[in-house]
Amino acid sequence: GQYEGSQVVIVGNGGVGKSSMIQRYCKGVFTKDYKKTIGVDFLERQIEVDGEEVRLMLWDTAGQEEFDAITKAYYRGAQACVLAFSTTDRDSFEAAHSWKLKVENECGEIPTVIVQNKIDLLDQSVVNPEEIELLARALGCKLIRTSVKEDLNVAAVFRHLASKCLAE
Ligand code: GDP
Ligand code: MG
Repeated sequence: GQYEGSQVVIVGNGGVGKSSMIQRYCKGVFTKDYKKTIGVDFLERQIEVDGEEVRLMLWDTAGQEEFDAITKAYYRGAQACVLAFSTTDRDSFEAAHSWKLKVENECGEIPTVIVQNKIDLLDQSVVNPEEIELLARALGCKLIRTSVKEDLNVAAVFRHLASKCLAE
C-alpha cells in the first residue's frame, strides 16, 4: 500500500530534552523555557534517506510516571524509538533500562537509539563513558551523543532511525 511514514516515540525521564529535541529537529529552534509536556503531542519532518522520502512523525510523551496511562497507548503504533537520558542527571541514566522495557512491552523489538543528551555540559557529567557503552551494548542499541542546545548530532539520530525503518 501507500507509504505512510514512520512513527518515532521519544522516551526518557522528564527534563532530559525530549521536547527540545523534537522542536529542534522539526522547527529548527531551541528555547530555554522548560514547559512540562502534558500527555502526548507530535510534530513531523520528511527526510531523504538513500534516495527515498521518509516521513517521520515524532511523538513526544511526558516523562513523568503519572502520565503512563495516557502515553502507553501511543507507544503501540511506534516503529522506532529514541531513548534519551541527560549527561547531568544520574536518575535519567539509571531509568533508561526500564524505559526500554516499557516500549518493548507495547511495541516489541523496534529500532532504538540511546541518546546521551546535553553533551555541551560534559564538565558537569554524572555518568561515565564506559558505563554508557555497557548499557548500550546490554540493550543492543546504537548510542548517539547529542547536544540539542548546540545542534550536535540531532539529525544523525533521526537519519539512523529512518534508514532502519526503510530496511525493515
Ligand atoms: P523533556 O522533559 O525531556 O521534554 O525536556 P525539555 O525538552 O523540556 O528540556 C528540559 C530542559 O533542558 C530545558 O530547559 C531545555 O532548554 C534544556 N535542554 C534540552 N536539551 C539541552 C542540551 O542539549 N543542553 C543543555 N544545556 N540544555 C538542554
Ligand atoms: Mg517534554
